[in-house]
Amino acid sequence: MSLVELPGSLVTVRNLVGGEWSSSAAAAWTEVKSPYTGAVIGKVPETPLREIDAAVKAAEAAFPLWRATPIKERTQYLFRLRELMLENLTALGHRAAAEAGKTVDEAKAGVMKGIEVIEFALSQQNLDKGGTLEVSRGVTCQQSREPLGVVCGITPFNFPAMVPLWMYPIALAVGNCFILKPSEKVPLTSQLIGELIREAGFPPGVFSIVNGGRPAVEALIDHPAVKAVAFVGSTPVAKAVYQRATAHGKRALALGGAKNHLIVVPDADEAMTVRGVVDSFTGCAGQRCMAASLLLAVGEVDVMLTKIKQAAAAMSPGAAMGAIIDKGALAKIEGIIARAEKAGAVIAVDGRGKPAPKGYEGGNWLGPTVIDFAKPEMECARTEIFGPVITIVRVKSLTEAMALENANEFGNATSVFTTSGAVARYVATHATNGMVGVNIGVPVPREPFSFGGTKESKFGQGDITGESALEFWSNLKKVTIKWGQAVDHNWMS
Ligand code: NAD
Repeated sequence: MSLVELPGSLVTVRNLVGGEWSSSAAAAWTEVKSPYTGAVIGKVPETPLREIDAAVKAAEAAFPLWRATPIKERTQYLFRLRELMLENLTALGHRAAAEAGKTVDEAKAGVMKGIEVIEFALSQQNLDKGGTLEVSRGVTCQQSREPLGVVCGITPFNFPAMVPLWMYPIALAVGNCFILKPSEKVPLTSQLIGELIREAGFPPGVFSIVNGGRPAVEALIDHPAVKAVAFVGSTPVAKAVYQRATAHGKRALALGGAKNHLIVVPDADEAMTVRGVVDSFTGCAGQRCMAASLLLAVGEVDVMLTKIKQAAAAMSPGAAMGAIIDKGALAKIEGIIARAEKAGAVIAVDGRGKPAPKGYEGGNWLGPTVIDFAKPEMECARTEIFGPVITIVRVKSLTEAMALENANEFGNATSVFTTSGAVARYVATHATNGMVGVNIGVPVPREPFSFGGTKESKFGQGDITGESALEFWSNLKKVTIKWGQAVDHNWMS
């Protein structure tokens, strides 16, 4: 049985510059390997500075016309893009799965979630009408939203379609020209997206793609014409990108890693908890920034823990669970499991060495892993693992659980499993993370509620989607107007 369709031949990744595909003259190229098989499915250039400069200049040239295009017209291109994405959902799902290691269903769900941001952006054509007020006799003040110019988005490997979609629909709708720098580990999905952008008829230069790793990121941040930088990836890089961009006086929003806590209390609904916990830490093979990573077991919840372990042990990588992005990441995760065992934790379910799905023996596979009886200070309880691994720390009270949640250096998600309104309210009130769930393992807010964490999971103001993203990608212009003679005199006259 085929789990995913890999590209039929090796894809040479191109940049999208001024609306045209452009083959890079790069000296350095990186192989793109499928996590499913280890086979090389593409090669991606480390785009040289002069080519990045050309992409930014083409975007800059496109800006005056795009900015002058009314929002109702700009959004028509996004309407078409949404339709094209839905028509091509299967192809996008297979492409994202092939390079990121997700199951095809997970990859399609990511595209659908991203399309919600297009829908939010589309709503702005009716909602974002500015405002006018007579602020003094005979004097009106009117406010409108102004784009920034050329802006860029730098994205991670784990959602090749969705995370870029958090950024460009809103950035484009408000009139910016957007440059995407996808992860060099998963550059192939963006090649399909670029094709759909062309088919949707966006004017040349409005949406561009440049490929590469750190040098490409730094070239974009440093380019004087790039006015804002959105980033999603690991915390150390998020911090570095944020600092570099803001040192240039640029607007920046950088989302980082996570260590998401699930709190299970004795009154929790058993079936809902077992399914919610297992789906959260095994979905996308644990490679999502909202995946459960630490389970705080409050008091006597052993029956539920046993069922969680049984459900996890029954799962095998393959049809129900995807692969780890690369061999380096697999070795890192296995290292954390080994060190947890050495430190005295119990590997209650061990995903290491689970058989690979038939025909995919070259892939990077790890089955669900449950580390029990961990202590809060252990590496497995503190660091982001980014694999299908959950660590259980047993605590005596909800107060103790919340103290650990509050001490978590990351700030994406906290969820509680309970049937008690009072417990749910206590957790929601005292949680310090940005996204809180009640009986939800992956508490990702759906649009129009925005996505964003706190603490070391986010650097910058506001969230990456929703209304604060509108603020991020624009400035407010206030025009104060007086026609004719002043009817009275005050300091505005
Ligand atoms: P990463 O930080 O390695 O890479 C992200 C992007 O940064 C890529 O485009 C990469 O080319 C670029 N990059 C890498 N090193 C760089 C450097 N030194 N300087 C400048 N740019 C650099 O992240 P990843 O491994 O691709 O993605 C996984 C991480 O992303 C996890 O930590 C995960 O939690 C996080 N993530 C966070 C969110 C969120 O919403 N907070 C969402 C998805 C993923």
